[in-house]
Amino acid sequence: MLVVMQSRATADQIQKICQRIEELGFRAHSVEGTERYAIAITGDLHGIESCGLDEMPGVAEIIRISKPYKLVSREAKPENTIVRFANSDVTIGGAEFALIAGPCSVESREQTMNVAEKVAAAGARLFRGGAYKPRTSPYAFQGMGVEGLKILAEVREHFKMLIVTEAVDAEALEAIEDYADMIQIGARNMQNFSLLKRAGRSPLPVLLKRGMSATLEELLMAAEYIMSEGNRNVVLCERGVRTFTDHSRNTLDLSVIPAAQKLSHLPIIADPSHGTGKRDRVIPMALASAAAGADGLIVEVHHDPDHALSDGAQSIFPEQFAAMVSKLRGILPVVGRTLEPDPTAQAGEL
Ligand code: PEP
Ligand code: MN
Repeated sequence: MLVVMQSRATADQIQKICQRIEELGFRAHSVEGTERYAIAITGDLHGIESCGLDEMPGVAEIIRISKPYKLVSREAKPENTIVRFANSDVTIGGAEFALIAGPCSVESREQTMNVAEKVAAAGARLFRGGAYKPRTSPYAFQGMGVEGLKILAEVREHFKMLIVTEAVDAEALEAIEDYADMIQIGARNMQNFSLLKRAGRSPLPVLLKRGMSATLEELLMAAEYIMSEGNRNVVLCERGVRTFTDHSRNTLDLSVIPAAQKLSHLPIIADPSHGTGKRDRVIPMALASAAAGADGLIVEVHHDPDHALSDGAQSIFPEQFAAMVSKLRGILPVVGRTLEPDPTAQAGEL
């Protein structure tokens, strides 16, 4: 349910409505747009129609949100959400295309700094690297934990990049809040509802990856778990789903990008690394993702992928990443996106 306020509604009227909603046992969430100010009501809304909210001063109309996800839906907020970060001009979901790059796992200081230097030079403004890894085998490398987070914090300091890293559980999330800029919730945890709620109470933006067999509606409901706890800064991520194909690890479902954008105001990025699982497919699918209207990419890059402790086969070399970025510079203007000026371009050159 959405209480749309009159354009001349006062702050006092808005506050009284929020107070009334909370008194009735529901939750009130402000939805600020350029065109209108609204208050979304969540909870078990049985009987709310008879509570007289529509007669309160300042109310223009009450709209029922038809979808099961409420705060996530375009019905609640028609304009695109632009996710912003504290103390940074990086955005996801605005005109600038977001580039998140780095190794699958933080393996050592040397490896991480090496990759960071190269992806930063190629134009990535966000750095990825797992310090906590969700692995299929309990015997596989599980990540460096807090030691890995400290290395990521060094990357942030040294290269002025924002850090995106995965929280596999609430304990990891707690630690990540001290070192990183964005919490990644992995495909395997897309329906870990207690973790989603914890991420919803975090001040950091959340990168929510689609489960490998999740429908779009399930992905949007997972995002609703985060938003219902108060965190508005959620970015969706298509990372490939399980199909019958035998030519790739997963099938990158690019048609979900326009579908998600139609139903939700949240940004959506693509992960062509997990989406294909094979190095030679990553760049073509990265370019296709940009062409399909993605708000950005998350790409695995490793300077020595043959010796990577995880996902080496799908990690591209730093030189390939740089080549991918220069191809993106050709595609992005067609879809109305920009990239930061090329850091490798010589001054004075066009
Ligand atoms: C990752 O980003 O390294 C990862 C584990 O991704 P996903 O959750 O999509 O498998
Ligand atoms: Mn990986």
